[in-house]
Amino acid sequence: MINPRGLHWGEIGPDDIVMIDVRGEVLAGRHRVEPTALFIHGAVHRLTKRSVVLHCHMPYATALTLTSDCALDPTLSQNAMRFFGRIAVDSEYNGLALDDAEGERIARSMLGANANKDVAFLANHGVIVTGQVISHAYDDLYYLERACLHQVLAQSTGRALRPVDPKLAAHVGDQIHGEREQSELFFEALRRLLPAPGT
Ligand SMILES: [Zn+2]
Repeated sequence: MINPRGLHWGEIGPDDIVMIDVRGEVLAGRHRVEPTALFIHGAVHRLTKRSVVLHCHMPYATALTLTSDCALDPTLSQNAMRFFGRIAVDSEYNGLALDDAEGERIARSMLGANANKDVAFLANHGVIVTGQVISHAYDDLYYLERACLHQVLAQSTGRALRPVDPKLAAHVGDQIHGEREQSELFFEALRRLLPAPGT
C-alpha cells in the first residue's frame, strides 16, 4: 500500500491509498504512484522481506545525511540509543531513484553484513525505516526524527558532545525494545486523533 501521486497529504483518505505488487503493478486503487517512491519501496520490500517500509526526507534526519558522519550517533541521547546497532548507511548519493537498479542499490545497504539493520541513512537524501509491524516502524520513524533533532541542536551549540559508553547505549536499546507495547499504544492514540473519514 502506497500513497498516491498528486494528492496533498491532508486530502488523502483510506480510499486513495493504492495497492501495488513489488513490481509496481497496480492491484487496487484509482490513482497513479510516484515513480521514485515505487522503485525505493518496491526494492526494499523485495530484498529485505520487511512488511513495512517508510521513507521520507524529514528535516533533522536529512540534515544529518548532509554531514560527513551521514547518520545519527546512537550513543548521544536516550532517544538515539534505541537505534544502537540498527543503522545502515548508504554513503553513495546517486541521483533520483528512477529505476529498479537504483532502488535495489539503496536496498542493498540493508543486506549482507547489514541484514540486521532496519534503519538506513541515505547520503544527501533522507532515511528509510523498516519493520514487520506498522506501529513499531512508525514509532521508530517518529523517535528517529526526535533523536536527530536533539543531535542537531546539541551540535549547533558548538560545545563538546557527551557520548555514553557504547555498552550502555546498547543496553538502553535493548530496554526500549522490551517495551514495544509503548509503540502500539502510541500508534493507537494517533489513530484516535485522526479526523473521521469525510470530515
Ligand atoms: Zn526520497
